[in-house]
Amino acid sequence: MTTETASAPNFIRNQIRDEIQAGRSDKIVTRFPPEPNGFLHVGHAKSICLNFGLAEQFGGDCHLRFDDTNPAKEEQAYIDAIKEDVSWLGFEWAGEVRYASDYFDQLYAWAQHLIREGKAYVDDLSPDEIREYRGTLTEPGRPSPWRERSVEENLDLLERMRAGEFNEGGKVLRAKIDMASPNINLRDPILYRIRHAHHHQTGDKWKIYPSYDFAHGQSDAIEGVTHSICTLEFEDHRPLYEWFLDNLPVPAKPRQIEFARLNMNYTLTSKRKLKLLVDEGIVDGWDDPRMPTISGMRRRGYTPASIRKFCEMIGVTRADGGLVDIAMLYHAIRSDLEDNAPRAMCVLNPLKVVLTNVAEGHEEVYEVPGHPAREDMGLRRVPFTRELYIDREDFMEEPPKKFFRLAPGQEVRLRNSYVIRCDEVIKDDSGEVVELRCSVDFDTLGKNPEGRKVKGVIHWVSATHAVPMEVRLYDNLFLVEQPDKDKDADFLEHLNPESLKVCQAMGEPSLADTAPESRFQFERVGYFCADRHACRDGKLVFNRTVGLKDSWAKVQKQEAQKNDGQKKG
Ligand code: ATP
Ligand code: MG
Repeated sequence: MTTETASAPNFIRNQIRDEIQAGRSDKIVTRFPPEPNGFLHVGHAKSICLNFGLAEQFGGDCHLRFDDTNPAKEEQAYIDAIKEDVSWLGFEWAGEVRYASDYFDQLYAWAQHLIREGKAYVDDLSPDEIREYRGTLTEPGRPSPWRERSVEENLDLLERMRAGEFNEGGKVLRAKIDMASPNINLRDPILYRIRHAHHHQTGDKWKIYPSYDFAHGQSDAIEGVTHSICTLEFEDHRPLYEWFLDNLPVPAKPRQIEFARLNMNYTLTSKRKLKLLVDEGIVDGWDDPRMPTISGMRRRGYTPASIRKFCEMIGVTRADGGLVDIAMLYHAIRSDLEDNAPRAMCVLNPLKVVLTNVAEGHEEVYEVPGHPAREDMGLRRVPFTRELYIDREDFMEEPPKKFFRLAPGQEVRLRNSYVIRCDEVIKDDSGEVVELRCSVDFDTLGKNPEGRKVKGVIHWVSATHAVPMEVRLYDNLFLVEQPDKDKDADFLEHLNPESLKVCQAMGEPSLADTAPESRFQFERVGYFCADRHACRDGKLVFNRTVGLKDSWAKVQKQEAQKNDGQKKG
């Protein structure tokens, strides 16, 4: 039923397998190190699946460590959301949640160690001056006039920075490496900045905070991380990562491995830009079903399995793979729901149908499979009555030639029920069709009428028993494949004004008590999920997860046929 998609290559997995086979690696330890300054998105899902997946596969550990070195942008709410997302994806971190801030005392001691070794100094240059002295890709940097301070003076100044004696931006601690290095990261990188900020974990204890570079590798080393996996933009930081490990008495030497980040069409994977959408009220919070956040995908109806499958499908390489087609993500969720979501009938834009040869009060109930291939999903009861609703789209007053649905004088089959014919169209004063009068051919329950072929099958609900519900139809948030391609333009200009349409729909009565987050295929319409927040207290609210048409599977099939043809030819 589903098209199986092979997983793509994962060079890190292969490398670790080789290491283990060659006896060079014992137990592996990885980590996922988010900064708690926003919600996680689909790109983070790739990193989570990679890090936790490797630990799972090779019997190792994966730590969840918050990289919390910038209190000004971080919040407890983000920490909570990130933990929930990782758990929801089905992964378990080894031990307690960890924080880079757990190691602030140790990092401070190592900063003093570098000073004593003559490998770090307190610099009084302003941030602008530091930038200016640093040079460019083509010009070497110049040494700061404060570079040759004595060990005693440096230790004293660092202590006073920590005690809060100086203003933010007044001083920094820098490593003393090489102002002429071709790698700018080695031109005396900053180790500590003064920040008089309250920290969500350490409160007001610290007035100075370590830089990402100084905190990250050492945190890895403290935790015994063996493979520190990060995205390619950190490749140029690797020499610095190693410099710290070589120049500090660290307990272990983790290895940094870089891979290409996920970029996907019609999708932003920048926390800063996603935060803007939230702050500007363009979306309904971080978990708006149009957001590429993990919590947004969850609310939209994605399953953890589908996201994990998608991450398998895209693979892990070092080469920047360009844009991944969002159709792949849609394919992953569609094939999961195809197999696992029960079926139901729902009419998005109801049009009333009166069956003139069915008596008032007449009622039949059909017992219909919950899923065509899953007996375990049991049967659902679908009542049939004189008055029904069908979808407005399934009727046309003046149909084109190949319209096999309902039209004046034309026949159609009601799914799981009879063939009906449209006898009369009733309009209101403005000329809008408000009701159809149809007649039932009672000889057609479960079989075709004698000598006539009825091609069309439409879905319907009993007007007497249907449950009203709100259905939210989501589409891509952006109209162009790369909304932030042009760095000087405003990505908001590319917003899709039709990314959300709300329908007042009618569902079959079996949907009446739907629990939040239940998923369905609404037959002929698409896959839907009961909204986590709004589908409560007797209110029915469904989000469209994805439509039925699988453009990705189609492309794959065409390519396979093409390749087949080439092999044969
Ligand atoms: P920030 O600019 O806030 O640092 P970030 O996206 O790098 O944003 P982090 O919280 O630092 O966010 O990311 C945690 C981990 O997820 C990092 O190891 C990072 O490399 C990885 N990651 C982030 N974005 C992607 C992406 N698009 N594809 C794959 N991995 C990603
Ligand atoms: Mg980052």
